[in-house]
Amino acid sequence: MLLEEVPVAVDSFNHDGGVLFFCSHAHEDHLKGLNKKWRKGPLFASAITRQLLLLKWPSLEITALELGRTYQIPLMDGLEIEVYLIDANHVPGSVMFLFFGYFGSVLYTGDFRLHEKHQDIASLAPVRDKGLSRIYLDNTFCDPRFQQPSREDVAAAISKRFRRKWPCIIFVESYRLGKETLLLHLAQKLRSRVLVSEERKKTMRACGFESDQVQIQSCDPLQASEDLLQTEALRGCIWAISRQNLRKGMWQASDSGCAFHGIRATGWAEQARKEESMPSCEDLDENLVAVSDDGVFHYLYSDHCSFLELVQFLQFLPKAPVTFISPVGSSEGTYSFDGADGIQKLMASASVPSIRYSERPTRCFEKTSLPRAKRKAEGPHEEDGYEQKKSAGA
Ligand SMILES: [Zn+2]
Repeated sequence: MLLEEVPVAVDSFNHDGGVLFFCSHAHEDHLKGLNKKWRKGPLFASAITRQLLLLKWPSLEITALELGRTYQIPLMDGLEIEVYLIDANHVPGSVMFLFFGYFGSVLYTGDFRLHEKHQDIASLAPVRDKGLSRIYLDNTFCDPRFQQPSREDVAAAISKRFRRKWPCIIFVESYRLGKETLLLHLAQKLRSRVLVSEERKKTMRACGFESDQVQIQSCDPLQASEDLLQTEALRGCIWAISRQNLRKGMWQASDSGCAFHGIRATGWAEQARKEESMPSCEDLDENLVAVSDDGVFHYLYSDHCSFLELVQFLQFLPKAPVTFISPVGSSEGTYSFDGADGIQKLMASASVPSIRYSERPTRCFEKTSLPRAKRKAEGPHEEDGYEQKKSAGA
């Protein structure tokens, strides 16, 4: 997204000329436009994100910034901005950016999960002294229906359940980045190793996840022999596997006569349950949403804030207009929601003066809490109170 206040692009790399680029974390959907030949301008990221990007594109030039330290970075025409990085508590290397300077102070959260340390943002000097001119907010789960419990609670519930089934192979669905703490929690509680792909092993090493307590081994379940699968099942192991290969891995283990289980841990678990028409089993175990016919356990586990946490986060901060980072979902499709309820409730609960957002694919709006008479004096508005604005970005 290209910020309105200053020539800075975050997690969006297709802009030309005079722009500073920042990457909040290394999830694929935040790297659009980057490639091995990318040279559009100065690029900044946390040290871990830099390492992860270099694994993918070794020729990129990236400046690593430390957390908790203020950097001055020159812009064109002798101007400069200052930036301060805050742990976003989303995935390894993920950060929020606090930009400040001649334009005021702007907070860009990137993807994040609320952490008690986020209360300290309000007491950082630029925020304490001058407030925030805008908050760019992760709105992935900005709807009251999303009430994901803490990741620690879910991880504890999972390890408790599978201790009763141990030893076995536990396939845990995961992307290339994320769920590391869940994998390590299970490995520690079940006194097991974590098996991952070769690529994932490099990623975990770049994130600093090699410890003496947990052994991380590279091994592809789809390439594993029957003997190996049987051995692993008898020893017990936690096996990270991609979404597309989860069922294939389980079938392979089944064909080999092994004891195994599959886990999908996602903030979208309830939507996945509906999509796959699975009966709800909330009463079976805390935080367990459903079990599919083929033995996949669906847990509500999120690296993003629940709706309540979004409200809490905004309540920690000085009041400021908000721009949603992601387009608000349409009502089409199982995983989509229209977003209107979330916008309304977020404004009311967190006293947000206005929320700027775009809808898929192109329409952009602003919802404001100003009284209708005042809004009328400021210009034309649509009948429903949604004010059409210029695009807030990609
Ligand atoms: Zn992410």
